[in-house]
Amino acid sequence: MKEIKLRIECPKCGGSRIKPWNDLSGEQRMLAEKLPASAEFTPAERKKHRFCTRCWFEFTGKGESDVA
Ligand SMILES: [Zn+2]
Repeated sequence: MKEIKLRIECPKCGGSRIKPWNDLSGEQRMLAEKLPASAEFTPAERKKHRFCTRCWFEFTGKGESDVA
């Protein structure tokens, strides 16, 4: 039997605590707003991104299919 890995892992820290914007707490959103990507992406775009809540690596959605 093969173990199927569905969880996304952070390429930076290897953590699996990846959350979409909507699952972030108010405090976490404040931290996310301070990330450099906030200058590159509009707030609407960033709501489609996923964030590593451990090291704050931002998944910009490239190559990822988004299930709305
Ligand atoms: Zn990470």
